[in-house]
Amino acid sequence: MSFWGKIKAALMQFMSGRNGMDNLGLAALWGGLILSLLDTFFGTGLISLLGMALYIYAVFRLFSRNTAKRAEENRRYVTAVAGTKTRVRQFFLRIKNSRQYKYFKCPQCKVLIRLERGCGQKHLRCPKCHHEFDQKA
Ligand SMILES: [Zn+2]
Repeated sequence: MSFWGKIKAALMQFMSGRNGMDNLGLAALWGGLILSLLDTFFGTGLISLLGMALYIYAVFRLFSRNTAKRAEENRRYVTAVAGTKTRVRQFFLRIKNSRQYKYFKCPQCKVLIRLERGCGQKHLRCPKCHHEFDQKA
């Protein structure tokens, strides 16, 4: 086995049963990097300390042997981020299409519904909760 092959095998042996890098760990690393960069501009030292804490958290996740707990934390993080991504995407879509469509919420379940502008008064049924109501666009 070559020198690098031995190093790779030793690393794999060391990392077996450990959590490794996941979405939350990567986000913590990026957060730490961004906070460190911010600190070079503002130079309070406090932001850098926070960034360092994020680095330590990322390394802790990387080498953690409690994979079930880390996976659950990662799953919660991914779910939360996906919801935020959807809301941000919907927000920009609403701005982009605001001339063509009127956006409003279902009065009962608050799901977002759109109507083409200029279609007048419409009797609607919510696609999610089937609540019926009138809406003008
Ligand atoms: Zn509804």
